[in-house]
This record gives sequence, C-alpha cells and structure tokens, in this order.
Amino acid sequence: MHYKAVLWLALFSQPAFSFVHISQLKPRLPVSPQNPTLTFVWNGDAPELTEKGEVLDGNFADSSDQDLMAALLTTAMNTWTNVPTAYIILILDQNNAAHIDEHDETFSIVVESQESEAVAAAALPSFITTDPDPSDTENNTHIIHDCDISVSSSSVSAKSLLRTLVHELGHCLGLGHPHSSYRSIMSYSTLDESASLALDDKAGVSFLYPEPGQSEDVQYLTTCGVVGGGAGGAGLWLAVPLLVIGWRRFSKVSR
Ligand SMILES: [Zn+2]
Repeated sequence: MHYKAVLWLALFSQPAFSFVHISQLKPRLPVSPQNPTLTFVWNGDAPELTEKGEVLDGNFADSSDQDLMAALLTTAMNTWTNVPTAYIILILDQNNAAHIDEHDETFSIVVESQESEAVAAAALPSFITTDPDPSDTENNTHIIHDCDISVSSSSVSAKSLLRTLVHELGHCLGLGHPHSSYRSIMSYSTLDESASLALDDKAGVSFLYPEPGQSEDVQYLTTCGVVGGGAGGAGLWLAVPLLVIGWRRFSKVSR
C-alpha cells in the first residue's frame, strides 16, 4: 500500500481532533516568545460560590468567596500556561478599578450582574477596533488587543465556574467553539465536567503560541500538506506533533 494511504488511514482511524479560531483572521494575543506574559486584571469581586469543597482538593472548602475566586482564576490561567508545547504565560493581577472597556487594551475580569441569567460568563475578544483613535496594536487585525471577561454575580458552583473560566480564557487566547468535538473544553456542550484541557485545546494553544524549542518538530510535520478544511484542519496536524513530542519525552525518560 502506498505510504500516503497508510498515513491517511492511521490518521483517520484515530478519533477526530479539531480546534477552531475565533475568526478566519486567526488573531492572537500580543505576546511573543521573548515577551510571553499576558496579565489579566481582576476587580476583586466574586459571585456566591457553592460546593467549595468540590474543587482544588477541598483546600478552599471554608474560604471566603473572594479567596476561592482568586484561586479559581489562578488555576484557570495556569491550565493554559502549563501546556508544555505553548509558550504563553497568563498572570493574574488585582485592581478594584478593573472594568469592561474594549478600547483600553487592558485585559479585565469583572464580576457583575448579567442581562441573562443563563450566562455564567462571557469573553469579549477584540481584534477589529472601533476606536476612533486606534493604536498600532488596535489597527492590527491579527492581534487581540483587548479581551475583557464578564463573570456573572449569580450564585454558581465552584466546579462549574472553574470550567467556565478556562473556557472563556480560551476565547481570549483566540480559540472558538469546535463543532465536531465534545471532548474540548472549548465545545458548547460536553460530557465531561472537568476543567482540564483536551488534546484539541492543547493543539489550539500550541498552534497560536508554539514553544520555540519544540517548533522544529511542529514545522516538520505541519508542512506535510493540508488535511481537512477550514481553520479547524490545523488541529489535526498539531495533534500529531504533540503526540510525537510526548513520545520523544517518554522515550528519553525510559532510556
Ligand atoms: Zn464559548
């Protein structure tokens, strides 16, 4: 059998991987391997949190809503920061003056009442500016120059909010809703209540912010050709280098 047919079969006999961008422009946050840090400023408020013992090994079971909220935000950010094949680092800062403003190029997290009770949180990634006096960053449609996250002040379980925060941060990173996967934390709906990332999510953040030390492996495999259509097709290819990198690490350890 032709080697391409073998490769094709090998790929498609696996579960389908995919991620999608928030826009065909594939915008990403204004970071680089040299300046990998992006800071979110939280206004310090928290919704009433229930079932506090269900998250973070129960360490915050008796903590205040604010203390647990800070821990949930940090945990959600670390979830993306800790993807080994992506260089981006998300940091939490706190300032009572944090507010929603798509023109201030400040990434804010604000707890406030929502128009709809069904909304637990919403992210507002801005990459096409309406600022009458735009900066160079705002004029670049491939850069997400602002992304505020509005969190509902309504009562919510800590576990549910943690998953929601990871999901909304994924939008700020530049990821959209995949329509062909229920495993991704970026999916509309899921069978999984955990706040951990699926392979699709790791592939997405690694595509947008590839760790330079591992990009040789990524480039080697991503130049093979195009599989699948649209923006999501790249996810399939990124999944392969992730597996290769994982295998290489494993093989180093086991030597
Ligand atoms: Zn969403």
